[in-house]
Amino acid sequence: MGKLANKVAVITGGNSGIGLATAEDFVAEGAYVFITGRRQKELDEAVKKIGKNVTAVQGDVSNLADLDRLYAQVAKEKGRVDIVFANAGIGFPATLDQVTEQQFDQTFNINLRGLMFTVQKALPLMSNGGAILLCGSNASQAGVPGFTVYSATKAAVRSFARTWTAELAPRKIRVNVISPGPIETPIWNSTNLPKEVVAQIKGELVSKIPAGVIGEAVDVAKAASFLASEDSKFIQGVELFVDGGMSSI
Ligand code: NDP
Repeated sequence: MGKLANKVAVITGGNSGIGLATAEDFVAEGAYVFITGRRQKELDEAVKKIGKNVTAVQGDVSNLADLDRLYAQVAKEKGRVDIVFANAGIGFPATLDQVTEQQFDQTFNINLRGLMFTVQKALPLMSNGGAILLCGSNASQAGVPGFTVYSATKAAVRSFARTWTAELAPRKIRVNVISPGPIETPIWNSTNLPKEVVAQIKGELVSKIPAGVIGEAVDVAKAASFLASEDSKFIQGVELFVDGGMSSI
């Protein structure tokens, strides 16, 4: 029996990168997972890769009607939620001088508004208690030039977790943040930066990571499985950095 045997989990952004790796690990640990994301083709491919115990529901976390549809499907198939991993997120590289209103609104809409309503709308299905994991980033720890809006949204995620820990503890719901450092996922391609620039940024980042490498999505997935399981039943309101030690120096 895996450490998530018979648990029902919802993972936003489950069709790519960290969300997909986590969905695979949750299923390997015995859970049934519902994954969501905007791109149907990637959802179909993710379902194939995960192989079993998975339902994909296409949708945008910043669209509340899509979230209602997601949870209606979960309610219909399983009747409850035990674990929510609010993982969906985007990040545009832009300095204060460069950032546009559209980038600001979209980043806050997805990384914060979407994350909050993902959690709020799960609560009616969490009457047995459970675990909520919020995806932060170690970028919120120190100033990261060029990621002004992204870093601010991720810092606010930590604030949500502190408040919700207090609000939801009486309902036996634990809330924790997982904050990855640089992880090799498709998010790097979505920056629209030239490949050489991305390679240069990664090279500079590696020199700041005590572990000496960029992380893998599975590194975050293993941390998520731990925080979602009863193995972490006395851990609430923490921010777990999965960053090869980067935030400690
Ligand atoms: P990916 O680009 O691989 O995954 C992002 C996921 O979010 C995709 O599944 C995407 O699906 C989904 N998503 C984005 N916007 C929406 C939306 N509006 N509605 C629903 N789903 C959405 O990147 P990662 O796996 O790296 O990112 C996952 C999380 O990890 C993010 O929150 C990111 O900020 C965080 N993180 C990543 C780091 C890294 O170095 N990789 C470092 C620190 C934090 P779709 O496009 O189909 O909607």
